[in-house]
Amino acid sequence: MTKELFQPLSGNTMPRFGGPATFMRLPACTLEDDLDVAFVGVPFDIGTSNRPGARLAPRQIRDESRMLRPYNMATRAAPFDALRVADVGDVPINTFNLLKSIDIIDSYFEALLARNTLPLTMGGDHTIVLPILRALCRRHGPVGVVHVDAHADVNDTMFGEKIAHGTPFRRAVEEGLINPHRVAQIGLRGTGYAADDFDWPRNQGFRVVPAEECWYQSLTPLMHTIRTQFGPGPVYISIDIDGIDPAYAPGTGTVEIGGLTVPQVLEIIRGCHGMHIVGGDLVEVSPPYDTSGNTALLAASLLFEMLCVLPGVPRR
Ligand code: MN
Ligand code: MN
Repeated sequence: MTKELFQPLSGNTMPRFGGPATFMRLPACTLEDDLDVAFVGVPFDIGTSNRPGARLAPRQIRDESRMLRPYNMATRAAPFDALRVADVGDVPINTFNLLKSIDIIDSYFEALLARNTLPLTMGGDHTIVLPILRALCRRHGPVGVVHVDAHADVNDTMFGEKIAHGTPFRRAVEEGLINPHRVAQIGLRGTGYAADDFDWPRNQGFRVVPAEECWYQSLTPLMHTIRTQFGPGPVYISIDIDGIDPAYAPGTGTVEIGGLTVPQVLEIIRGCHGMHIVGGDLVEVSPPYDTSGNTALLAASLLFEMLCVLPGVPRR
């Protein structure tokens, strides 16, 4: 039996400003539906250390995804021609309890992965990558990570707490959720608490690519090197929108100047084509700080680009 494929609702069927606000105007499905790929929201921002608001991102990203059409004109990727893709809604976190929310997210992704559904996640702050990686590791073993961010997110604690949006990759190393020799952190920059802050990830084996090494460069050669380094094993993509310069993405909580450009982050994601991608997220969009909606529009577009590099997506 051939599976029923879903297409984004066309702008010639229903005006783009009408209809339900699902990601790319795809069908609204549930955790129980058999899907190849699920777009899922995690409206969580109780792990953030500065400006909040990422709890509002899944809704705004869905709304700003309304202009996305089904074919990628640059790469010729045609994801909806082969994969069954839908929007499964949001994870029902407990916004009054961080630790309970972490477990709720973990169980939710466990259930998605048990159905062989690949998650593409709209955050939420970056805390949410920890429970996602826990669920992924139980399924795939330790994964590689392509991590775009202004920050390494490897603090031991924040305000004494082990779980917050600046600690997930330290916890992931400690818990063996990721293979530190298959992690690339791209776009790191800004001020630190100590001059050797970025040496902790280097000492674990991470490939650390500070923003300064990206300035004025195409990142296509870097991605070629990373593909070779990472090999055929499972890889997760985690994009903190603050990796991109605030000129393009002002709607976020912990802003750093001198970041990546939009073409560079497109090169990073498109450079993941050919890797065994097992999931991805786009986190830290804070809608109240960008009333234009451009940050969420960028986030929606980057999530579509992630969809386009998944295994099994044909190129026409
Ligand atoms: Mn960040
Ligand atoms: Mn981050």
